[in-house]
Amino acid sequence: MLILPQNSPINADLSAQLASVRAQIARAALDAGRNEDSVTLVAVCKGQSVAAVQTLARLGVEHFAESYLQEALPRLQQLAGAELTWHFVGRLQANKTRAVAGHFSWVHALDRARIAERLNAQRPPSAPPLNVCLQVKLAADPAKGGVDAAHAGELAARVRALPRLRLRGLMCMLPDGLAPAAQSAQFQAVQRLQAQLNAAGAGLDTLSMGMSGDFPLAIRAGATMVRIGTALFGARP
Ligand SMILES: *Cc1c(COP(=O)(O)O)cnc(C)c1O
Repeated sequence: MLILPQNSPINADLSAQLASVRAQIARAALDAGRNEDSVTLVAVCKGQSVAAVQTLARLGVEHFAESYLQEALPRLQQLAGAELTWHFVGRLQANKTRAVAGHFSWVHALDRARIAERLNAQRPPSAPPLNVCLQVKLAADPAKGGVDAAHAGELAARVRALPRLRLRGLMCMLPDGLAPAAQSAQFQAVQRLQAQLNAAGAGLDTLSMGMSGDFPLAIRAGATMVRIGTALFGARP
């Protein structure tokens, strides 16, 4: 295993960046009248080294996310035994569902019943149900996945009927280039959609929204999980 010396420069950077992200999370939560503990930091480690993940883990980060399966599997293997919780946040194709169902605790970007059914069938019997969020897409954006708001209720009902999945909430990724006011409006719309689904009995407790560029706004709109890469690790190599 690769272990960095405690005070190598990369450790100092990661430590400072983590402190900054945590402070911003705490401030946004406070602004929203919420406890900072109501926001889970998920470190998105695509493109990063095993050593960087180990450093953040040593600094207390427990949740890590991957979006490219091929790249993720060897890293997961190297970090097995580290008691970390792994989230798959990438787009999920049918040929990847078995590995994701076998190696991850959360899937954030579920947007089709067919993928949900495969994950349900392939979740190992020895593992607890797989936590899932539905990715919702509020504005047409061919570059991003997601179920549109009008069909989210129907997909939620289908997922809730699958015993090996546990529907936890909604996830969104905003289109690039929105002004802050438009970002806030979209986050608030996702929060309203969650409230609507919950009024119909969906029992959702998670809003996975907010990335490096927009997480304080997402937290002010109710995010309970922020998925942060660049602001923690620096630019991806
Ligand atoms: C890469 C990625 C992130 C993190 O993005 P940053 O802007 O680097 O914080 C979050 N969510 C998903 C789905 C991603 O693919």
